[in-house]
Amino acid sequence: MAENSVDFQGVLAEIQDEIDPFFGQGKNAGYIPALSDVPGDKFGMAVHTVEGEEFLIGDAQDDFSIQSISKLFTLMQVLGFDDIDIWSRVGREPSGTAFNSLVQLEYEKGIPRNPFINAGAIVVTDILASRSADASRRIGDYYRMLSGNLSNRVDEEVALSEQDHGYRNAALANLMRSFDNIQTPIPDLLDIYFRQCALTTSCADLAKAALPLACGGYSPIAQKQVLSTRDTKRINALLLTCGLYDAVGSFAYKVGLPAKSGVGGGIVAVLPNKFSVAVWSPELDSYGNSLVGSKALELFTTKTDLSIF
Ligand code: GLU
Repeated sequence: MAENSVDFQGVLAEIQDEIDPFFGQGKNAGYIPALSDVPGDKFGMAVHTVEGEEFLIGDAQDDFSIQSISKLFTLMQVLGFDDIDIWSRVGREPSGTAFNSLVQLEYEKGIPRNPFINAGAIVVTDILASRSADASRRIGDYYRMLSGNLSNRVDEEVALSEQDHGYRNAALANLMRSFDNIQTPIPDLLDIYFRQCALTTSCADLAKAALPLACGGYSPIAQKQVLSTRDTKRINALLLTCGLYDAVGSFAYKVGLPAKSGVGGGIVAVLPNKFSVAVWSPELDSYGNSLVGSKALELFTTKTDLSIF
């Protein structure tokens, strides 16, 4: 199908019809109690083209917990600083392990494999925190600037729930501290990290916020350049190779777009110079990625014949 003849709204409607059999096969994130109560049958999807068109279906305007997708935006924010060297403290390789695994971090002397696993994101947040007295507010402000929606706020119940059950994240931060790869006092750092994960957003907001990755670093929503074209290319490469935890290979095979998922059930993906697309459905597969959301994106690139490959 030629790209300019794609009927995005029609494609979204077809996906909504065809996605039905996949509900009930996954499970909401159980390790953050506040996420386990979200109705599993929710489904929303939003496409935003670089020309400014928006297409929505289902629960695309409902708020959900951004969770690990926040890791993408803190990385963008940190790379937006001048004179920053993050790559001596975080790697750029797929981890091949679970998002919250401790084992690899011990072998690799406290240097996380990439910025999209929990350990790597905690380092990125540490870099932000060491440059800002109010990192939590700055992270929220940055996301609201990209989404254009001032109501993207921290869900205090989710933040508390993570705080109360964040044993593995505390272990990761402490292990990295023992290797001198964390500077911020750990309780403060975890508080900032949990609060960034507890931001609420919708598919419509998320598709807008990710647009710079489809527009060479320019945010059409904020109307400014937020990343260099070089860093935009680099982040898209990292998303393709590291954005879906240890399911990243099969996601690239089935969907063919740089993307980032979160255990709230959201996934955001981009096709550079064309569009961003966000999907949300809370039931997760065994890797921690939205099961229905992954299927919906597979249907999307198959039906439109649009991917990076
Ligand atoms: N807040 C979650 C955690 O740190 C994020 C994980 C995710 O979305 O994958 O465990």
